[in-house]
Amino acid sequence: MILISCKNCQKVYTKEDYSEFKCERCGHTVRRRVKNTIQTSLALVITSLLLFVLAMIYPMMEITEFGIKKESTIFQGVISFINYGDYFIAIVIFTASIIIPLVKLLVLLFIFVSLWIKTPFSNKTKLKLYHFIELIGKWSMIDIYVVAMLASTIHLGEIFNIKGGVAATAFACVVVLTMIAAHKFDTRIIWDERRKN
Ligand SMILES: [Zn+2]
Repeated sequence: MILISCKNCQKVYTKEDYSEFKCERCGHTVRRRVKNTIQTSLALVITSLLLFVLAMIYPMMEITEFGIKKESTIFQGVISFINYGDYFIAIVIFTASIIIPLVKLLVLLFIFVSLWIKTPFSNKTKLKLYHFIELIGKWSMIDIYVVAMLASTIHLGEIFNIKGGVAATAFACVVVLTMIAAHKFDTRIIWDERRKN
C-alpha cells in the first residue's frame, strides 16, 4: 500500500503500486515523479537568466530629456525618473522589471542547486521559497500591466516611451519561461531520500 499525491491538485490516493493513472479530480496524469523535471526547469531558468541580461543591456525605453530623444535601458530609465523626481514610478519600474524577475530566477536556481549540494536550509524552507515564487508568479503579470499603464500615461507628456525590440521581447520571454520553469518543477523531488542533505 502506498500514498501518492497529484502534482496538479494535491489530491492524495492510496494505491498498490506506482503505475500511472489519471487524477479523478483534475484529469492530470499522476506519476511517481515527473521525468527530467530538474533538468527541464534548470534549462529554462538558465535561458531566462541569459534573456534577462539581454533585456537589461538593450534599450527598452525612449526618454526625452531637455527636448532630446535618447534610447535607454531599463536601469538608465529608472535613473532618469529619479532625476525627474518621479520616485514612485522609478520604484514601480525598478521593482517590477528588475527586482521581481531576478529574485524569482535566483530563488529557483537556489532550490535546484540545493538538491545537489549541501545547504543549511531545510526542505520545508525550500518548499516555502517555492510557494513564495509561485505567489509572486501570480502577481508578476500585474506588474507588467502597471508598467504598461504608466508608460501610456507618461507617454502623453512625451517624456517617456516604451520601445519594442530586443529588450522588450527578451523581457516578455523571461516572464513566461520563469513561470513555465516554476510550473514544470516537481516539488516532491525536494523530499526524495537519495538527494536529502
Ligand atoms: Zn489532480
